[in-house]
Amino acid sequence: MTQDCIFCNIANGKTDTEFLYEDDHLVVFRDIKPHAPVHLLIVPKRHIRSVNDLTDDHRSILGDLFMAARDMAKKEGVDRSGYKLLFNVEKGGGQVIFHLHLHLMGGWKR
Ligand code: 5GP
Ligand code: ZN
Repeated sequence: MTQDCIFCNIANGKTDTEFLYEDDHLVVFRDIKPHAPVHLLIVPKRHIRSVNDLTDDHRSILGDLFMAARDMAKKEGVDRSGYKLLFNVEKGGGQVIFHLHLHLMGGWKR
């Protein structure tokens, strides 16, 4: 855990952010500034800066993130209508919080 990292603090329960899901490896919570009717962040508890910093050690965490996304899409009722999964990578890719996170966005009326 990195003390001045906001997602480390959130993922390790140091804030009042409400979790929609939590297990030993990750947490899921709503984005504070949603870009979609359903906008969740799926965040590993381990501090990893970005996709660029992934190593072989992180393979199982990546699987966990995607399985949590699949489950949360179903729970939020957007699995059949469809949704986007997104990693922003570094500044040029729109990353603002430098702690790996997967965006799940859906729920638009189309
Ligand atoms: P990034 O651009 O780094 O991929 O996405 C970071 C996301 O985190 C943004 O969509 C932003 O709205 C969200 N965010 C930033 N700070 C907080 C926070 O304190 N709580 C929550 N729930 N979301 C946050
Ligand atoms: Zn962190």
